[in-house]
Amino acid sequence: MAEESLFRGARVREVPRANRTYPSGRVCAAEGCTTKLSIYNRWQYCWQHEPVHSYVARGKRRSRKEAA
Ligand SMILES: [Zn+2]
Repeated sequence: MAEESLFRGARVREVPRANRTYPSGRVCAAEGCTTKLSIYNRWQYCWQHEPVHSYVARGKRRSRKEAA
């Protein structure tokens, strides 16, 4: 029925960037670095030069002094 096709349409919209790739033949943007980047690498830098993605800051430890 028509409802079903509507539903499908909505679903298609939701599809997240599937297997997004990037131009091939790119090299690391770091000075002097000629490391080729993977087409799956969303960064401009190779794994050695890409900015550190710190997930560590998450869940900061609460100081025990807080209760004082
Ligand atoms: Zn590099």
